[in-house]
Amino acid sequence: MAKDFYDALGVSRTASDKEIRSAYRKLARKYHPDVTPNDRAAESRFKEVTAAFEVLSDAEKRKKYDKYGDRWEQADQIEEMQKRQSAASWARNGPGSGTSFEASGLGDFGSIFDNLFRRERGGPRSQPSNRRGQDVETPIEVSLEEAFNGTTRTIRLQGAETCRVCGGTGEVAGALCHTCDGTGQVLKDRRLEVRVPAGVKTGSRVRVAGEGRPGIGGGVNGDLYLLVTVQQHNRFERKGDDLYIDVTVPYTDAVLGGEVPVQTMSGRVMLRIPELTQNGRQIRLAGKGMPALGPGAARGDLFARIRIQLPERLSAEERALFEQLRDLEKRPEAATT
Ligand SMILES: [Zn+2]
Repeated sequence: MAKDFYDALGVSRTASDKEIRSAYRKLARKYHPDVTPNDRAAESRFKEVTAAFEVLSDAEKRKKYDKYGDRWEQADQIEEMQKRQSAASWARNGPGSGTSFEASGLGDFGSIFDNLFRRERGGPRSQPSNRRGQDVETPIEVSLEEAFNGTTRTIRLQGAETCRVCGGTGEVAGALCHTCDGTGQVLKDRRLEVRVPAGVKTGSRVRVAGEGRPGIGGGVNGDLYLLVTVQQHNRFERKGDDLYIDVTVPYTDAVLGGEVPVQTMSGRVMLRIPELTQNGRQIRLAGKGMPALGPGAARGDLFARIRIQLPERLSAEERALFEQLRDLEKRPEAATT
């Protein structure tokens, strides 16, 4: 529904139940198809106020509508998502847990109404109102590895499908279709394999065209969106398309220079450590970050955060050498000026 439900009924957002009912009765009387036959504008106005009343007269639905507006039907999913996002324990599911989610919210008041409405008017089949189906949003979680390589998810959808017997009209040869009880739709379980592209991040939406709610009266189907959350990784930290990893470097290599192995998302590489590398320094491994989504976007980088490791015990010989070093560094400034 494009129009705000409160506006449709001409009431304020704080209107009481009684005010809403009375506003609806008045408008319904004015625009009812029995009163205004063959008036398309009145017909669509009647549908609009009826749809608004359907929601605002139901305390539960009204609460959701007040909070989420046009997306009120997805309120449960949105809240579920928010719960997931605030949970600090993303990692516990582990990579590739492959959870599938059920899209909630069955039935479509609009379509049921369309059919009631057609029958009310009786006579020859009136022009079906041609409406695009609603979009459906489903949350998914992927591991960082899956986000790096791309992955697939099997989505289980229980949704309404256009009734094949009556083709969504709710009627067979002028009589009520018994397969769908005249609603034009039947409920069905569907499994859908969806490809999640490499480079997705938390908040990415993967669109699956035409897999949302069915269109009404020959309208095109809505789309399915997978709303992605990428789980935290125990070694890599992600910022945008860049990755960060802590790399332990022995103090001797930090002072003299050397090479250390570094884990990347695509295997180990050897990283050259320049001499006199300070603790906390970040060394960039260009192009070793996350693949970028979308054409022309650049790959991210990997940053090795240097953590210098001091010895945990010293042999007598090492101790003697360190003492020599300390003596060297304590020489009078005269030596350096
Ligand atoms: Zn049917």
